[in-house]
Amino acid sequence: MTIELPVAEGRRVRRAFFSLLGAERRRVITGVVLHVAAAGASTAAPLLMGRMIDDLSAGASVGDIDRLALGLAAALLAALILTWAAGYTLNQIGELLSVRLRERFIDRCLRLPPHVAEQAGSGDLTTRSTVDVPEAGSLLRDTAPWVTTAILTSLVYIGAMAWTSPVLALTVLLAAPSISIGARWYLKRARSGYIDERRAESRMGETLAASSDGARTAELFELTRHRRRTGDEAIAAHWGATRYTLFLRSVYFLGLESSYVLPTAGVLLVGAVLYFDGAVSLGAVSACAVLSRQAMAPLNNLLMTIERVQRGLASLARVEGVGQTESDEPVQSGRAPTGGDVVLRDVRFTYPTGGEVLHGVDLAVPAGERLAVVGPSGAGKSTLARLIAGIDPPGSGSVALGGVDVASMPLEVRRRHVTLVTQEHHVFTATLRENLALAERDATDAELRDALATVGATWADDLDVELGGTARELDAASAQQIALARIILADPDVVILDEATAMLDPRAARDTERALAAVLEGRTVIGIAHRLHTAHDADRIAVVDGGEVAELGSHEELLARDGAYARLWQSWHGTAESSAT
Ligand code: ATP
Repeated sequence: MTIELPVAEGRRVRRAFFSLLGAERRRVITGVVLHVAAAGASTAAPLLMGRMIDDLSAGASVGDIDRLALGLAAALLAALILTWAAGYTLNQIGELLSVRLRERFIDRCLRLPPHVAEQAGSGDLTTRSTVDVPEAGSLLRDTAPWVTTAILTSLVYIGAMAWTSPVLALTVLLAAPSISIGARWYLKRARSGYIDERRAESRMGETLAASSDGARTAELFELTRHRRRTGDEAIAAHWGATRYTLFLRSVYFLGLESSYVLPTAGVLLVGAVLYFDGAVSLGAVSACAVLSRQAMAPLNNLLMTIERVQRGLASLARVEGVGQTESDEPVQSGRAPTGGDVVLRDVRFTYPTGGEVLHGVDLAVPAGERLAVVGPSGAGKSTLARLIAGIDPPGSGSVALGGVDVASMPLEVRRRHVTLVTQEHHVFTATLRENLALAERDATDAELRDALATVGATWADDLDVELGGTARELDAASAQQIALARIILADPDVVILDEATAMLDPRAARDTERALAAVLEGRTVIGIAHRLHTAHDADRIAVVDGGEVAELGSHEELLARDGAYARLWQSWHGTAESSAT
């Protein structure tokens, strides 16, 4: 079952937005001041033009007009330089904020409790990182500075109009009713519309990815038609959500375009009446007509930008929502675990789907012991491993490592104290050095080489070799060696092996087990044993059956008890012997 990661509520989004912007306060102020200065310089052009008209009507000399023209050219040049400087500053801020947002998102993903990341599914996280992060980044990079400067620039132009003729300046109010009705109508619907669109996009991605990943299984079970129908439904839902936001935009933009021309028309009409009454000069009307267009241009762009702001805010809400799961983590203990003992008390666990899987497990593993966990398929062995590693918190009861409740350990502490090794190892598209340094950032080259030598990775002589992706493809055994080298570097007190060598061919498995012996030296080891000879070599064996520890003791003790383990051993031994002959 996949869960959907939360979407942050408005207050949290606003806080995030202002805290990101606040980090660049000085640059933001500089950029905005430069923009206002640029707008101030651009108002000079229409004002000087108005003056020229009036002076010409009054019979001014060519020299006077030339001086005004020279002033006009200087003002335009100043406006150009200031606009460039302001744009440069704001772009710089935008890029920095975009980078911060990405870092913040990655940090949050890495802090997600593992069970939440697993249940969230790849579609949701992928859409958030590939669609929402760039969208929210563009909100911070382009839109937010643009909105601020657009408002201020418009105010400067309106101020210049008021200075020329207060009555004509009032004509900008003509655009107010239609703009405000349109904006209110749009804003009421846009946030939920864009969030629904993103959600539908995530679901569509998830559904299509699941269908393509499981295409062969679907074919085998004749589920192709069902998968296609599910895919069609997801695409239709996405199309429906996209059409709705498109409808919102088209109505809104149409309203804006018509509002935009109203003030200029108003200036010309009212200006004509006032001019013939002798209340204003021709130059003032001309200047105000140009200024009204200049005032409305950024305002019009600003209102168009509201659409992008809405999309950006919806995306920022989804990006911030990832961090919200952090609060789902229980209160963290400040105590550091000491030693490698593991104690489980009355541990019960139920997956979100299905019934209870562990029914009150009690288990104490002293530091340095090797415990093998055996039992039939579906008994709950892997679940037990996940709980000890702190991936899933127990439903009730407690799991303590080194005297500290694992569920209350901060993620960093837990990762240093306990490691779960499964048969799935991820080799990142990065150098060998970077792949190893994940376990211990400060490891020296000598330590990295020692770790590789301990696990028998003779192929790894160049730490800078690129791995993963289209670079060097590693086989399962080499990937396993990297995972084991990471354990040496992380140096945890407790290691849990969940069928760590099950996928390897027998020769590679034997080599890996030899490497494992070196890696596990001195640590507490809890191994889910597939092959019973591993169990035979352990200090003690726990037989898990039906979600309970049915038997616990050494190999000899359990054989002597002649219970479940003895039966497993006899049947495995018989099979092993017959396959050997
Ligand atoms: P195996 O040896 O086959 O790996 P196991 O002893 O490790 O089995 P678990 O994998 O712990 O058993 O599973 C115990 C029970 O929990 C099974 O009934 C399984 O179907 C169920 N289960 C395991 N993982 C999940 C999950 N993610 N969601 C729901 N149920 C699950």
